[in-house]
Amino acid sequence: MRNRAVTSGLGKVSKGEKCNVVGCAQVAVRSVSPDVAAQAKLDIGGARRAYLCRAHYRELKKRTKKDRQIEKWRFMG
Ligand SMILES: [Zn+2]
Repeated sequence: MRNRAVTSGLGKVSKGEKCNVVGCAQVAVRSVSPDVAAQAKLDIGGARRAYLCRAHYRELKKRTKKDRQIEKWRFMG
């Protein structure tokens, strides 16, 4: 059975979409909310949706994860 691409929901990006981090022109693989992008200090030039290439998505995951872990560590003292 072949699944048709689901266009709704978060995460997936349609083909041909470009990463909109300032200074980057790679093909986007994921989209996230601008809030999340800002949290990871990715400059998307005020776009309403952050489209991220593989490298920037990885960076975002890394940064947001690290922030969360640091918070946890602080609590654990
Ligand atoms: Zn990028």
